[in-house]
Amino acid sequence: MQVEPPKELLKPLQLPQQRLLTGPGPSNCSQRVLRSLQNQVLGHNQPEILQLMDEIKAGLRYAFQTDNKLTLAVSASGHGGMQAAICNILECGENILIVKAGIWAERAADMAERLGIHVDFMETELGVAFGLREFEEAVNKYWPKAVFVTHSESSTGLKQPLEGLGDIVHKYGGLLIVDTVASLGAEPFFADAWGIDVVYTGSQKALGAPAGITPISFSPAAEKKILTRKSPVPVFYWDMTWLGRYWNCFDPQTPRPYHHTISATLVYGLREALAQLAEEGLAASWARHANVTQKFHEGLARRGYQFFVKQPQHRLKTVTAIMLPNGVEAQPIIRYAMDRYNLEFSGGLGPTAGKVIRIGLMGVNATSGHADLVLRGLDDAVKYAKSCQL
Ligand code: PMP
Repeated sequence: MQVEPPKELLKPLQLPQQRLLTGPGPSNCSQRVLRSLQNQVLGHNQPEILQLMDEIKAGLRYAFQTDNKLTLAVSASGHGGMQAAICNILECGENILIVKAGIWAERAADMAERLGIHVDFMETELGVAFGLREFEEAVNKYWPKAVFVTHSESSTGLKQPLEGLGDIVHKYGGLLIVDTVASLGAEPFFADAWGIDVVYTGSQKALGAPAGITPISFSPAAEKKILTRKSPVPVFYWDMTWLGRYWNCFDPQTPRPYHHTISATLVYGLREALAQLAEEGLAASWARHANVTQKFHEGLARRGYQFFVKQPQHRLKTVTAIMLPNGVEAQPIIRYAMDRYNLEFSGGLGPTAGKVIRIGLMGVNATSGHADLVLRGLDDAVKYAKSCQL
């Protein structure tokens, strides 16, 4: 053999048994979700998988609070949802208005530009929610075919209120795309009532499934735009005219074509995560995240930490960004929390890099006990990091 079997693969798989994923995501999976992942894989067109896909669609309509027929999951992480949203409802030469509130706007702009879509930005102050008046001014200036807004800006910890945005975008003839990767299941969200045309989320955050199967939903207006495109969707893998048929979203009599091999394992995981959400109930899950976050934020405030987002009502109930204390770096805090507490903390991302520590309490980790443990771990880690500066 020119290449020998690698020695590292001849050793057993080694992973930590316990690790608390208390960064901005992924979050830990529940035992029930983990058990589901141990099932034997099945073929992507076998009746059991098709049945689970139908159950997932129903669970997603509940989670998004929508009647949208075109509701499904793409076989990719959250970035795949962003990509699928943009490349299905916009064509080369059309324009998108992107509300620039952090890293996710930058990613969306990068994707749109690669597709030949013209990008305009609405600038905002980082960590500060924008208002309807400035939003309408921007939409009125550019008359965009689509507007991109992040509900849960996990790079800053900002929650952007969404009520009223849909009406404004529609008044100027556009479609509203919303990224809820870091909020769905934890923050109140109503796709239909808020007039949202395309929404996607992450499987691996508040929903508590593994990454790699991203829920997405298209309103009737967005579906119409896709079905009346002048050009085919530029990427076969994201093409909703195919995926919609594979997920049986259009005419139930049409046979489901082979589009790609969906991961049976991820279908099991997402199905079980959505079953847990249905059992707990959305309102109860929102209340649990709100109560835990309130306790966590009160603990942070008592200790004198400063939040990146100054307005308490605009702080996410999933990811919290706290300012690094003066002269303290993120790395020793992150290392210490991992080494001593088995806790994952994260530094800033994009515009907050080097400025904040980001902590996530979501899904199964949104409990009062986790909030206490994270506060203890943070106290010790910051003490250690301060001692490193001496
Ligand atoms: N949008 C938001 C708001 C996110 O928090 C993330 C993940 N941190 C993404 C998009 C991208 O998701 P993924 O890493 O699963 O591709």
